[in-house]
Amino acid sequence: MTIPDTARRLLESGPLCDACLGRPVADRSFGLGNDDRGRALRTTIALEDDEDFEPDTPADCWVCEGYCGTFDELADTIAATLEGIEFETYQIGTRVPPLVEENDRLLREDAGLPEDAGEPLKREVNREVGRRLGERTDAEFDLSRPDVLIVIDLEAFDPIAGDAVTSHAVDVQINPAFVYGRYRKLERDIPQTEWPCRECGGSGAQLGDDGEEPCTYCDGSGYLYDVSVEQVVRPHVVDAMDGDEGTFHGAGREDVDALMLGAGRPFVLEVKRPTRRTPDVEALEVAINDAADGAVEVEGLRLATHEMVERVKELDASKQYRADVRLASPVDEDTFRAALEALEGTTVEQYTPERVDHRRANLTRERTVYDIDGELLEPTRAQIRVHGEGGLYIKELISGDNGRTEPSVAGLLETGAEVTALDVLGVDGEDEPFEDDDYFR
Ligand SMILES: [Zn+2]
Ligand SMILES: [Zn+2]
Repeated sequence: MTIPDTARRLLESGPLCDACLGRPVADRSFGLGNDDRGRALRTTIALEDDEDFEPDTPADCWVCEGYCGTFDELADTIAATLEGIEFETYQIGTRVPPLVEENDRLLREDAGLPEDAGEPLKREVNREVGRRLGERTDAEFDLSRPDVLIVIDLEAFDPIAGDAVTSHAVDVQINPAFVYGRYRKLERDIPQTEWPCRECGGSGAQLGDDGEEPCTYCDGSGYLYDVSVEQVVRPHVVDAMDGDEGTFHGAGREDVDALMLGAGRPFVLEVKRPTRRTPDVEALEVAINDAADGAVEVEGLRLATHEMVERVKELDASKQYRADVRLASPVDEDTFRAALEALEGTTVEQYTPERVDHRRANLTRERTVYDIDGELLEPTRAQIRVHGEGGLYIKELISGDNGRTEPSVAGLLETGAEVTALDVLGVDGEDEPFEDDDYFR
């Protein structure tokens, strides 16, 4: 069947707007709109049959019931809804009323075309409104990971009844925005993320004889610690991006009582429903550091992609530590040196330490000690620095963990060894740095 014959069959079904006439042959002539195709077919038929040219408007169209005439109005409404929201990319989805979808199917069936001929109305709306929105906003259509996702609900208005398109027909979902950085923790007893009180579950209240009263365990704060890295960083970033809430993602975490020094530990702050996506990160850094007042410092803040969250969580990282060590009995310098030399570059077998969360499976892991050195400060006191493969338990490497870690400093010294203070000096990707331009905006 020739294309004009197909068009004749389609027109026999009833009055059709140009877009609905062109849509079943949408696979023809890339670069045309369906309304262009429909108009051309209608013109061709009028010329071939020498009949008067009689266009039908969307308001007469039995298939789309007028929706194909609302693309401009929809784009205007979406642009107005997005006013004040910063975005560079967008995606559009459309809910088509089931009866209209059925019309679109019947049109093909009546004309003897395959059910999936051309393209579905839904896709036409997405594309046509998307194109118009691009012209109104300078933003780009992006199918993979748009800043905003717009869902059009055609059922919210009836063009044939003369309804105007209102914001009820438009739902805007704002995808999160991400800021990457590194933090240092310069005081002890600061957890990385906020730590709700286990007695009151974070509510800060308990039930007393006279009803609710402040929780005695946390003094009513709801938290076990007054401050966390997350609580220092999050409010400033959420505020700068004018978002609803934020989530802190760290590249692992150090113990609550450990300092995080050196170049700091990578993190990503995820901001939900941001209306700004390009805050001044340098000003943000200053604001965080001023407010943290020396307890925590951040540096190298950059706008990141959502993939950076997985990268900071999953990238294999080696760690550098500094441990203050107390020895159970005096050790001489030669013995101390020999123990460190024996550990340098060696592979350590560590059975899951007793102090580790019991939900973690118990098993023996092998981890490499890349570098180790240190000083014997007194016969029973030393400072040891270790650069180890990710997952190496340092406290156990020193203490031996009652034989669960082998070899160990304590084992080689043949005396008890205990870490009294542990600081992290570096967290770096094993094979590549965390900072990769592909993960920044
Ligand atoms: Zn139509
Ligand atoms: Zn409490």
